[in-house]
Amino acid sequence: MKVAMIGTGYVGLVTGACLAEVGHHVTCVDTDTDKIQRLQKGSISIYEPGLETLVLRNQQIEQLAFTTNLAEAVHQADVVFIAVGTPNHEDGSADVGHVIKAATSIGEAIAGYTVIINKSTVPVGTVAHIRHAVGAATTQPFSVVSNPEFLKQGDAIKDFMCPERIVVGVDDERATTYMRQLYAPIIPRSLDGIRYLTMDSASAELCKYASNAMLATRISFMNEMAHVCDCVGANIDHVRRAMGADSRIGPEFLHPGPGYGGSCFPKDVAALVSFAGKKNYDFKILKAVEQVNTRQKDFLFEQIFKHFGGSIRGRTIAIWGLAFKPNTDDMREAPSIRLIKRLLFAGAHVRVYDPQAMARAKLLLGPDVVYVGTRYGALSGADALALVTEWDEFRDVDVPRMKAAMKTPTLFDGRNLYNAEDMRDQGMTYYSIGRQ
Ligand code: NAD
Repeated sequence: MKVAMIGTGYVGLVTGACLAEVGHHVTCVDTDTDKIQRLQKGSISIYEPGLETLVLRNQQIEQLAFTTNLAEAVHQADVVFIAVGTPNHEDGSADVGHVIKAATSIGEAIAGYTVIINKSTVPVGTVAHIRHAVGAATTQPFSVVSNPEFLKQGDAIKDFMCPERIVVGVDDERATTYMRQLYAPIIPRSLDGIRYLTMDSASAELCKYASNAMLATRISFMNEMAHVCDCVGANIDHVRRAMGADSRIGPEFLHPGPGYGGSCFPKDVAALVSFAGKKNYDFKILKAVEQVNTRQKDFLFEQIFKHFGGSIRGRTIAIWGLAFKPNTDDMREAPSIRLIKRLLFAGAHVRVYDPQAMARAKLLLGPDVVYVGTRYGALSGADALALVTEWDEFRDVDVPRMKAAMKTPTLFDGRNLYNAEDMRDQGMTYYSIGRQ
């Protein structure tokens, strides 16, 4: 099929490259001229394992192209995806302005029956707004489908190619046939080969929010449990393992940490609270989830501050891991940002290292931070190290080398990555979460 992808960010680029890989002809469109020019030359603007290979291969065999010319790409397409950003307004509600703008441009360009598929995460009812915007711009026949995206950054190619589920919110027969055809190469690879779930568009739109809100809730719940462990002298590792062994609970997303971040959980939780509120539903649990997360993002700072007796002025703090999670360079809402800003504000010197996110971090954090090219280099002269993102390369560490580089061997393990006894036996002053 001929596919146009409107929006070439984390979702649009992955989806476009994967659909090209399974045999569709894909044109990715973006308003960011610089991004498109770089992609045309084979330079990928984001770090996502496996993506570069996929993009270059499909570009070479002309299955995948990049353009800023939306009208031309849409004119030729059988199906058009919308994968543009949906940031929050000040009040937490989702801003669907980019989605509606894209819908109008699509309407102006379609040349015959076209299926318009929304992949952006949008409040319930947005499919109807898209339909209205497209309809106001064309007399051509079209269908609008909701097809929320569940890929995880860092694992996005596998998640798209072998999904745990494909959710399709479709309200008419003709579009149903197109969607089956589009996903025909992927459906057999989905979990059990049968996780192609069709439903009404409102339910599809809500699925995405419900999933992200549940995951955010698990994280905040476990962060609360970790604090209770500290209060009562229990160990969150034991509690977590016992909980995860229960098949009704499962082991994923039970790790305490420095609070959830990223481009999706914070904004999607806020948007769900907001649009439920607009329908007079007070989503109490999610409000608490947000509050707990905000508090948790200060936890590492407070541990550090307390350790140094209430003043860190002139201290050097090293940070390992800046991205909001491993295997991505995405810094959006990363817990490292708040921690580093607070450290700087309190007068500390900050030395940072991340395997992939340094360039993006520089744009956000500016010149007040020292960016170091190696993990051990970042420790030079440090009074303490805070581990924020659990990249694999931080799992196996040479403690004597760390101690030799640091002024005082103190480690704040924001991800409970290390064995507390091992660390203490090797002479580290060691803090973690819920295991004191
Ligand atoms: P992004 O910010 O990385 O990319 C969005 C792109 O859309 C940008 O390159 C922007 O220039 C482009 N754009 C904006 N308006 C446009 C227009 N009118 N025409 C063409 N291009 C336009 O965003 P993302 O992370 O890819 O997320 C996109 C959507 O998918 C959001 O709604 C997000 O919530 C959702 N989502 C994201 C993820 C994720 O892991 N990042 C996962 C699932 C769903």
